[in-house]
Amino acid sequence: MDNLNALFAEIRNEFPALTQKVHGKKLVYLDSAATTLKPKVVVERVSNFYLYESSNVHRGAHFLSDAATAQFEGARHSIARFIGAEHFEEIIFVRGTTEGVNLVANSWGLSNLKAGDEILITEMEHHGNIVPWQMVAEKVGAKVVAAGILDNGELDVEDFKKKLSSKTKMVAFTACSNVLGTNNDVPLLTKLAHQVGAKVLVDGAQIVSQSKVDVKAWDVDFFVFSSHKLFGPFGFGVVYGKKAILETMPPYQGGGSMISKVSLEGTTYNDVPFRFEAGTPHVEGAVGTHAAINFIEKIGFDKVHAYEMDLLQYATEKLSAIPDVKIYGTAANKGPILSFNLKGAHHSDVGQILDQEGVAVRAGHHCTQPLMARLGVPGTVRASFSVYNSREDVDSLVKAVVKARELLL
Ligand code: PLP
Repeated sequence: MDNLNALFAEIRNEFPALTQKVHGKKLVYLDSAATTLKPKVVVERVSNFYLYESSNVHRGAHFLSDAATAQFEGARHSIARFIGAEHFEEIIFVRGTTEGVNLVANSWGLSNLKAGDEILITEMEHHGNIVPWQMVAEKVGAKVVAAGILDNGELDVEDFKKKLSSKTKMVAFTACSNVLGTNNDVPLLTKLAHQVGAKVLVDGAQIVSQSKVDVKAWDVDFFVFSSHKLFGPFGFGVVYGKKAILETMPPYQGGGSMISKVSLEGTTYNDVPFRFEAGTPHVEGAVGTHAAINFIEKIGFDKVHAYEMDLLQYATEKLSAIPDVKIYGTAANKGPILSFNLKGAHHSDVGQILDQEGVAVRAGHHCTQPLMARLGVPGTVRASFSVYNSREDVDSLVKAVVKARELLL
């Protein structure tokens, strides 16, 4: 552990944001589940692109455009390898997880779902993996059904099995809950879904920065994630889809780049993935994501996992020892996310006191109102850990929670 601590202390220096003070206190950033901080290598890569390489892609007429296209498409190959995709054509660039689910729900959903069909989700989904399905279900007369959770925050797999049937055409679930931290058993749930002939979409927003993703081994049909939760730029994300399925899907948006031929009488569409990428894309988003992948792979997911699990365990022990703290989500297999409340205090008040102490956490419903209803609370305080945090950060959190308790209870 000493070696790991030394390595991650070095890594922390990659994040200048952490050298600042907020409200006169040293910034302790524990909101990585909302967005990760960006390391210098990523910011410098994006900055260099803007300063020296900025040019539109796929327009081919000059040196800079060719170079930008090579960087852009190079990022697609790197992302394909990063998540274990077999073909680069399976990688579609979008704005993020939310747009990714909307793309699949509208393109695949509208052409495959009909009245009476069911879409199975879970009670722990983010609104980004609920609302697009509800919107499509309403249009075609299908129904969204949710599998429940157990009191420890794990998915109720028996309920999931019960709710799967020949009516189920899509199963959409998160690999990791952004509130409970629960890591779902992706291969198992995918296998169960495929047994009834349903397609599977996995929300990878929280998993990509924590552990190795392998879409091929998991056999998922779609996988979506956002770069900003993976040390990369805002406004950029990815849809992975199995090539054979993508090839059957109609475009999501129309415009330049997604076409093969346009006449005033009609249009034929480009091949996948370009069919799904209308208009000028987020070129620096792709380039920055490539740099972010290099950053995390250089550390290695085995080390990231070991380090983050140590922080989670330490934080869980320390917070549990404070009277009146209730923790939500104690699954055996968890990501580095810790949600809690102080019994008798409002989560926003706790969040505000923590902020005054320099400790940045998220307080609210975390875009999971159905989960909050299941937990019987309007919101929680959420601390989430990443590669730049340390045990000292956890100590600062604990000290601030003790202070909040003194002030509020
Ligand atoms: N799904 C999960 C599990 C998330 O944590 C989030 C973001 O918090 C999203 C989806 C939505 O991601 P984005 O806002 O980047 O589209």
